[in-house]
Amino acid sequence: MRLVQARWYHHGRIAPIRLIVIHDMEMPEKPDTAEACARMFATTGREASAHACVDSNSIVRCVRDQDTAWAAPGGNADGLQLEMAGYARQTREEWLDAYGKAMLGRAAHQVAAWSRAYKIPVRKLTRAELRAGGRGITSHADISAVYRRSDHTDPGNAFPWDVLLQLVRDELGGDGGGSDDVDAPAWKRPLSWPPTTKGDDVRAWQRQMRKRGWDLVVDGWYSGADEDVCRAYQKEKGLPETGVVDERTWRSAWTAPIT
Ligand SMILES: [Zn+2]
Repeated sequence: MRLVQARWYHHGRIAPIRLIVIHDMEMPEKPDTAEACARMFATTGREASAHACVDSNSIVRCVRDQDTAWAAPGGNADGLQLEMAGYARQTREEWLDAYGKAMLGRAAHQVAAWSRAYKIPVRKLTRAELRAGGRGITSHADISAVYRRSDHTDPGNAFPWDVLLQLVRDELGGDGGGSDDVDAPAWKRPLSWPPTTKGDDVRAWQRQMRKRGWDLVVDGWYSGADEDVCRAYQKEKGLPETGVVDERTWRSAWTAPIT
């Protein structure tokens, strides 16, 4: 996934992640709307951002999970923010047209990845649950109603939550999220740049790091971008910052708590 870094955000977080907040962009359903919204977040004078923007054919990352996006005051510190193309005034039929279905599938993929990585249950929180600090999926509208620090009502009353949540459950293979505590596969060899290092063990590490919320491509090649992720991860975990996936770094990817 591409990262088009948003201009306005906080580096880091002051609270653990507990919410996935769904928004719409109030922008037309077009093939390049995610890119357009990301460009807007990168350049705007308005203090606004989100973690990712989705349209019918792509997701563009704008803020890293470990940083705080400015999308829904009250739900920023502990939220992951997903922007969808379209308008809060859309009917259910409009959300479920061909464009909408393609976009919901992509959105579900991202929500499922977040659900796994941060152990967020696949359920829409009631406002009472949201207020009580529950973990789950919510809307900007509910954040506005509960925390009263913004007046946005996206993604609107007709947003097809049932369809999105079912797609997320399908992505997760029925495990409902939050249960990916698998043992680390056996470590075979150090993974390091240059990209002569490729293969299934690279792919397994990339997939695991993605589950943890890191932005990298699962392609089985250990690239410079993977090395950057590895170094940042090692720094976060207090491991020697070598950029090489040694045995400790490998095991940690499966066993360390997600912070
Ligand atoms: Zn919003």
